[in-house]
Amino acid sequence: MQVSQLIGSWYDSHKRSLPWRENPEPYRIWLSEIILQQTRVNQGMPYYTRFTERFPTLRELADASLDAVLLAWEGLGYYNRAHNLHRAAQTIRDEHQGIFPSDYSSIRALPGIGDYTAAAIASLAFNLPYAAVDGNVYRVLSRILGIPDPVDTSSGKKTFQNAANSLLDRQLPGRHNQAMIELGALVCLPKNPQCSSCPVQHCCWAFKEGITRELPTKNKKSRIRNRYFHYLAIWQDHNLYIKQRNAKDIWPMLYELPLIETPHPAELETLMLSREWQTLFHGTKVTLLNTSRSYLHKLSHQHIHARFYKIKVEPDYTLEEYRAVPADEFNRYAFPKLILSYFNTMKQ
Ligand code: SF4
Repeated sequence: MQVSQLIGSWYDSHKRSLPWRENPEPYRIWLSEIILQQTRVNQGMPYYTRFTERFPTLRELADASLDAVLLAWEGLGYYNRAHNLHRAAQTIRDEHQGIFPSDYSSIRALPGIGDYTAAAIASLAFNLPYAAVDGNVYRVLSRILGIPDPVDTSSGKKTFQNAANSLLDRQLPGRHNQAMIELGALVCLPKNPQCSSCPVQHCCWAFKEGITRELPTKNKKSRIRNRYFHYLAIWQDHNLYIKQRNAKDIWPMLYELPLIETPHPAELETLMLSREWQTLFHGTKVTLLNTSRSYLHKLSHQHIHARFYKIKVEPDYTLEEYRAVPADEFNRYAFPKLILSYFNTMKQ
């Protein structure tokens, strides 16, 4: 039996029961693929359920406001995915008569869809012969075939795509792609591959050579940028000042508290001397009620070091471009997870 047949048969008897597999219509497959980008199945599942309940059809997603989509996405991170999801739904509504496109190039042209996602949707929803290569598949291919090329270089990516194409089961491409991904997710794990229960152990190059943990390889380690966020939780009576982010930065269009960012760690005394502080308070009287613990929020290429300062202002204070919102209305706005964590401490 060929490798693809072995993995396909293993998949038939070991695959997890997942809702988008039970109901494999293009809209739901696309939703699951976008939600699961850089997200584990367990973490993404509640969001898939939430989206299919709030937006049961592509048309309802396209007609929803961006705020409603971001609120449904709240806490999942990588918010550009939610922006693109919304834009893609509108593109399908406006340019494809509301019907999910069924050819690879039209799928690939939608916002937020790269090579992997286009191949996954084309094969899973339309049985088109495209090999989908994600992180799981890089790992499985590199180990079975002994490919030493780094997965983070363009030549390495080409090598892996060619290998995936040649292994693809062209009769059942959707099942094949899911089988490869499932094998990587359940058996061929990054640090602790379960080779004794692997259907292709007897023909796996890395297993034979005893170097499973050395593959796949990467060329460079990603550089982490440290950022220092000082959030000012400005309370006026029972209202808190918030504003929608619009910068081309992390968390676009989500809501946040007034923020002072510094290039290095900074104490309150330093913040109080900053131009941003003067702009926020323009000499008005403020009372510091408390200072939070330090938070570390890790994104793929950034580490956010944050602290929250709870501040009380007088009734005559105003802050342009911000809205003052009572605590029982916070759930109408989508906030980054970091700020939600802080809000949670206020309830304790
Ligand atoms: S034998 Fe081990 S290393 Fe090879 S594919 Fe299977 S789980 Fe991965």
